[in-house]
Amino acid sequence: MVTETKDAVRKDWDTYFMDIAYMVSTRSRCSRRHVGALLVQGKKLLGTAYNGAPMGVPDCSEAGCMIAEEIEVKTVDGVERVVKKQRCIRTIHAEQNLLLFTDRADREGSTVYVTDQPCWTCANMLANSGIVEIVYHRSYPKDSDKVSRLMEQKGIRFRQLEHYDPPAQALMEVSQ
Ligand SMILES: [Zn+2]
Ligand SMILES: [Zn+2]
Repeated sequence: MVTETKDAVRKDWDTYFMDIAYMVSTRSRCSRRHVGALLVQGKKLLGTAYNGAPMGVPDCSEAGCMIAEEIEVKTVDGVERVVKKQRCIRTIHAEQNLLLFTDRADREGSTVYVTDQPCWTCANMLANSGIVEIVYHRSYPKDSDKVSRLMEQKGIRFRQLEHYDPPAQALMEVSQ
């Protein structure tokens, strides 16, 4: 289309902040998962974080991922199956780092933008952090049901950006 005006190509705020979250995620050195998270109050960016090892200790690119095996019960076509899953536990999750590096006062009434749907532990911590909204892009089906229920109970707006394309540079970084 050639009829696009300047306003039509201007990024909306969700796209603007999610793009930043993806760029932040490229800082992660875990080869299994790159997650970025932001704290936003109104339209002001108050903090950024990604998943990584604690400061000053070797990260996944230096020491390799620290793999933990987990057993998960999954229902496939109505049949319960036990599946083994591998997870890297070397890193502090982006959402947890965000909470470590922001102030409570800044979090009150704020929004968290995060590239991936939070896991149960992160969701539980975010639910107690003062924030009122979580916006994410990629889904994380494992914890989705219980996380959605928790957010409903807490009255935290919980929404997925469905028609969103991450910046190409951020994705190239992930596929390395
Ligand atoms: Zn790792
Ligand atoms: Zn998490």
